[in-house]
Amino acid sequence: MTFAQHDGTRAATQVVALGRPDRTPGAPVNVPVTFTSTYVADGEVNYARVSNPTWEALEEVLGALEGGVARVFASGLAAIAAVVGTVPAAGVVVVPRHVYSGTTALLAERVGAGALQVRTVDAEDVEGIVAACEGADLLMLESPTNPMMELTDVPAVMRGLLARYGARRPLVVCDNTFATPLGQQPLRWGVDAVVHSATKYLAGHSDVLLGAVVVAPDRVALQERVHTYRSLYGAIPGPMEAWLVLRGIRTLSVRLERASASAEVLVGRLEEHPAVQHVRYPGFGAMISVEVDGGAAAAEAVCAAARLWTHSTSLGGVESQLERRRRHAPEAGTVPDNLIRLSVGVEDVEDLWADLEEALRAAG
Ligand SMILES: *Cc1c(COP(=O)(O)O)cnc(C)c1O
Repeated sequence: MTFAQHDGTRAATQVVALGRPDRTPGAPVNVPVTFTSTYVADGEVNYARVSNPTWEALEEVLGALEGGVARVFASGLAAIAAVVGTVPAAGVVVVPRHVYSGTTALLAERVGAGALQVRTVDAEDVEGIVAACEGADLLMLESPTNPMMELTDVPAVMRGLLARYGARRPLVVCDNTFATPLGQQPLRWGVDAVVHSATKYLAGHSDVLLGAVVVAPDRVALQERVHTYRSLYGAIPGPMEAWLVLRGIRTLSVRLERASASAEVLVGRLEEHPAVQHVRYPGFGAMISVEVDGGAAAAEAVCAAARLWTHSTSLGGVESQLERRRRHAPEAGTVPDNLIRLSVGVEDVEDLWADLEEALRAAG
């Protein structure tokens, strides 16, 4: 399928304008949801585990936003599994201590099966990361980290890896779910691929799961590998899911703009709040983590007392969400017990603050 092109446009335009049908008289302005399991013989694609026109429209947008070649998957974790799938038997994966707990759990399962080894590093320690990559096959970064909000100086890591290992450096992948491609584009820093849980900001409405791998334009072998992995292992999204993400992504820029502005206001007020010990905010985006007085019980009480904020796992939706992360067993033991992760949505910021303040008071 071919799509309308808008070369030289900026990200806020691309989320709206790309992945649409060519402009011919009478053409629809949106791609259809193509429900088909197979295709008439002798075309480019013969079976729908390999590709689907609705996926392709979304891949067109994601590829342009990140500056690479995108492939969509059934979920963010399916996309991460595809990347981990490139590691040879008994290979070595280097990963920061605090990344999405599902990534930690997936790697632990592979270690348990004897499939690979994991070396854990501090996301902010560039030298430590580079040193840990001796003989490694995959460096799996995430910046900001979920839920500790640590930032990795990715360009410095890439320089360090090239200086120390040259062509022997490991494959470098960055989970860009928290930042979104509007916040940062790691491929421009020289990483090999980016992964996304499109379930979060890209879709933006807490109504769908989907993931993506976006590979750097010059890493052709890796692009083919990811494509083949998806076709063979079959962790494919439904066309309806791809359409929902495409629909959601149209408003990514305005949603993020509103949510980030509100997050900055809330960070300022949370830092002044007597029941809040520590606020973690990477300086951009709409994710905040706070540590509250009174330990795990008080943190749970805050979440339970919220009325407007939804007490639920996940993030990146139009509705604000909060959760004490350590309630989930796979979460790293070094994440404070009283840490609440806040995903700021697009509601009125004063209503969000009033509800949060009330919940903090109710728990205190
Ligand atoms: C949620 C999340 C994932 C997993 O995505 P799913 O779509 O839930 O499978 C991966 N990475 C990060 C940073 C996440 O927040």
